[in-house]
Amino acid sequence: MFLPSNCVSCGREPSVLCESCRLGLNESVRPISRAGLDGFCLIEYGDLGSALLHAFKSGGFFALGQSLAARLAVLQPKPTVDLLVAAPSSAEATRARGFVPAGVIAATLGRAWGLPVFESCLVREVADQAGLSADQRRRNLAGAMAVGQPLSGKTVWLVDDITTTGSTLAELAAVCRAAGASVAGFSTLAQTSLRHNPSPHLAVEGLNSP
Ligand SMILES: [Zn+2]
Repeated sequence: MFLPSNCVSCGREPSVLCESCRLGLNESVRPISRAGLDGFCLIEYGDLGSALLHAFKSGGFFALGQSLAARLAVLQPKPTVDLLVAAPSSAEATRARGFVPAGVIAATLGRAWGLPVFESCLVREVADQAGLSADQRRRNLAGAMAVGQPLSGKTVWLVDDITTTGSTLAELAAVCRAAGASVAGFSTLAQTSLRHNPSPHLAVEGLNSP
């Protein structure tokens, strides 16, 4: 497993993301749209974004994800909603990591905004999303998610770690609406396109295996 001992950006400073690279990081929150929803993302999924997400999700730098999420909480407008709903991870990925990345991000946002967080789960096995087309991703996730708490009459805000085609957000939104909630939008740490889909060994899409 890739475990950076120095800054993932410059490779010089003994910190996972050194202060000067943190300042240089293009982490201006921008509005984005996926799955018919408007949302916000912190970073573009480029070389540095991929290294950061990988260090957080698979490299043992749990606090890096919290620190990026804390930036997002400050830089994006606080949504006017009742609660946050975090995207699920596969059971396999959760066993390997010991945490659900979107859950960590949602917990950080929820603390900053004073909003409760509901986690979602997968109710059946799904294939790794890496390498699938947008259509295949939709089919792969159809009917695969559940939120274990009552959502009727609530307005919710979705949270994921990285969004590609938005198939995860679309399915999670459908589950929330089926449970009686209205979905106001979403937050994600990073966005990418299928064109820049992470290579399987980096495994940063929310539902990829580690
Ligand atoms: Zn650096």
